[in-house]
Amino acid sequence: RMPPFDYTPPPYTGPTADEIFAQRKEYLSPSMFYFYNKPLNIVDGKRQYLFDESGRRYLDGFGGIATVSCGHCHPDVVEAIVNQTKRIQHSTILYLNHAIGDFAQALASKLPANLKVVFFTNSGTEANELAMLIARLYTGSHDIISLRNAYHGNAAGTMGATAQGNWKFNVIQSGVHHAVNPDPYRGVFGADGEKYANDVQDLIDFGTSGHVAGFMCEAIQGVGGIVELAQGYLPAVYNSVKKAGGLFIADEVQCGFARTGSNFWGFEGHGVVPDIVTMAKGIGNGIPLGAVVTTPEVAEVLTRRNYFNTFGGNPVCTAAGLAVLKVIEKEKLQDNAFVVGSYLKERLNALKDKYELIGDVRGRGLMLGVELVTDRELKTPAKAETVHIMEKMKDLGVLVGKGGFYGNVFRITPPLCFTKDDAGIALFKPAFFFFF
Ligand code: PMP
Repeated sequence: RMPPFDYTPPPYTGPTADEIFAQRKEYLSPSMFYFYNKPLNIVDGKRQYLFDESGRRYLDGFGGIATVSCGHCHPDVVEAIVNQTKRIQHSTILYLNHAIGDFAQALASKLPANLKVVFFTNSGTEANELAMLIARLYTGSHDIISLRNAYHGNAAGTMGATAQGNWKFNVIQSGVHHAVNPDPYRGVFGADGEKYANDVQDLIDFGTSGHVAGFMCEAIQGVGGIVELAQGYLPAVYNSVKKAGGLFIADEVQCGFARTGSNFWGFEGHGVVPDIVTMAKGIGNGIPLGAVVTTPEVAEVLTRRNYFNTFGGNPVCTAAGLAVLKVIEKEKLQDNAFVVGSYLKERLNALKDKYELIGDVRGRGLMLGVELVTDRELKTPAKAETVHIMEKMKDLGVLVGKGGFYGNVFRITPPLCFTKDDAGIALFKPAFFFFF
């Protein structure tokens, strides 16, 4: 049973999922059907819950791909958006607006002191495109190194840096090299991060002129199936990249902004400070907003070239971002992500002890992954089972994502206000299906 929740959505009179499906499917991009054969028609959201057309409540274990950080339609965020919308919705680069200044300062205050110049974008893709551009302009080199199984976005440059098995866009991989993924679960060197770093050095030595623009990675791969970097990897890579004149770009689009609980950013605890940090998703709680933060010295390569975009730093989006950050602090959502995430992970590990189908449980805070295998020894991906269980969980009212190279990893990235009760529900329902 769902924990009690005091909210009744207003009646919905629009088309139903069946009607949309029957009448509009041919107009919808096939990506709409990546997760579910027949997606739900979600018409309301409050905190960690979503409501469909009939008013049925679902526990949102996916958070709009790790995006809804402080909960659906949080009143403080709604208020900030409405207030700003009533005054001015768009200001472009001709005018200053206090929301953009306040949010830029607030973001910088969350990062190491030298990272303080903020460029706003509308998405994670744009933030990473911009980071790659900055690195290339700053270093004069074209070569970027990213990790296999990474996801960095879906425009030309970032799709090149994305190295997912099922996104075959090799045609645009110009200037991007994919290094062995330091994956402690499937990687050949297990948890020994330093060993994987040799591959980056080899790429620099033999795949480039010896001079690179940058190295870009996620501290925890999200789309790649919640894969943490093996410890010791980043300091070793950092040395190689610095010697080759390159910049370290931390893609914090999914793992940043309090999601992992123990730290505000995913790169923290790895012993290196990035030259460029990119972010999006959780900073807007669902409002399109991204940012690139770098040092004044690096930022200069853009500012002297008159770089700008139309919507970057839009006052409604930045007002929302500022409200999101305040809610995270006021409601101690980072601590909550740590406490509830640790509890959930512990419980998932207990399930793993019980059910052979669970090959691995990983991640931190409220960015967790459960990998399903039909043979633990061989780590054979249990693809069909993943799809089946995910559909069943939806029928039972619990929504999670899936990902990983083989599509056999449940991605649990709920709003950071997820509770222990929610965690219990999220566990019980899949457990039921593992059992029968
Ligand atoms: N980087 C990472 C780590 C991501 O997870 C994503 C989105 N899944 C992106 C970049 C791209 O962000 P967006 O979809 O906002 O363009």
